[in-house]
Amino acid sequence: MTRGHSRQAAASIPTLSVVVPMFNEEAVLPTFFARLEKTLADLGVTYEIICVNDGSRDGTHRLLAEAHARDPRIRVLNFSRNFGKEIALTAGLDHAKGAAVVPIDADLQDPPELIATFLERWREGYEVVLGVRQNRNSDTWAKRVSAKAFYKVMNKMARIPIPANAGDFRLMDRRVVDTLRNVRERQRFMKGLFAWVGFRQCEVGYVRPERSAGSSKFNYWGLWSFALDGITGYSTAPLHVAAYLGSFTALTAVLYGAFLVLRRLLFGTDVPGYTSTMVAVLFLGGVQLTVLGILGEYLGRVYEETKHRPLYIIDSALGWSPEDLSACGEWAANPQPDVSD
Ligand code: UDP
Ligand code: MG
Repeated sequence: MTRGHSRQAAASIPTLSVVVPMFNEEAVLPTFFARLEKTLADLGVTYEIICVNDGSRDGTHRLLAEAHARDPRIRVLNFSRNFGKEIALTAGLDHAKGAAVVPIDADLQDPPELIATFLERWREGYEVVLGVRQNRNSDTWAKRVSAKAFYKVMNKMARIPIPANAGDFRLMDRRVVDTLRNVRERQRFMKGLFAWVGFRQCEVGYVRPERSAGSSKFNYWGLWSFALDGITGYSTAPLHVAAYLGSFTALTAVLYGAFLVLRRLLFGTDVPGYTSTMVAVLFLGGVQLTVLGILGEYLGRVYEETKHRPLYIIDSALGWSPEDLSACGEWAANPQPDVSD
């Protein structure tokens, strides 16, 4: 009886879960589903597609409801507002049941056809199969330069190497996903977390095309904050730099002070001291503010973490059983009637 029961449980577990974060993606959804579903059908494995609607304000919600009605393997989580891509991915990974999980962007910049290769490598025994961009030709010049600088700084400072040119598009084994699910920090830089958990990895190269329709959901300010999350989340090197900078300035000030005292003793009073005073005051003030700012970046993040708020709030969902829903505590107080089955 136990065996029968476990066989039944196994039957409801798909081989593959595809996790798709979506924010205002109505323009790409029809082509996205057509291409993804064709690819998955050709693979001949059981699958589910988990769509995390990250507070979209366009027709995404309606299109997802239609997609679920057409094929119940398309499951939907609707957030109560926009929480950002990293959190949307987290919710998807929390709810994915597959033996292997693949996060993918909705804009077809991650070619779904590559999943076939991912699965092959996974069957060879790799627990993480990483999609690596062979070039960044589809990025703007500014994004190419800033991404290069970021990975250079990041990999100098962080204690774990984060592969440059790899995005979130990858395959992860169930063991990796279960490990990640235990990491509940708020400042989520998923690429860093993926690298941090480790496991047996291999890479698959691909050329990343332009977004198929609609526009990018990230602006430069967003990317800058994201980079700060990445660096502060994986390295305390800026704090060391701040400490050294402080000691260096203090030492210089002592030496300069000694020089001034000596000069006063040897050559008498030197009335005009405006320049040296201003230089010292401004320089020290600048250093202090910089160091305080760095401290503040870390302190602010510590504050965010200590509040222990849920990472996301699900407003409604399509395609989950009541057990699935109760297994995850981060729901709105009154889940809406959209909750089906
Ligand atoms: N995305 C999201 N929430 C956001 C911003 C983006 O779920 O707040 C999703 C978006 O719908 C897409 C993926 O994250 O599926 C990547 O976004 P985008 O293509 O805009 O980023 P880019 O490729 O320009 O880095
Ligand atoms: Mg994109």
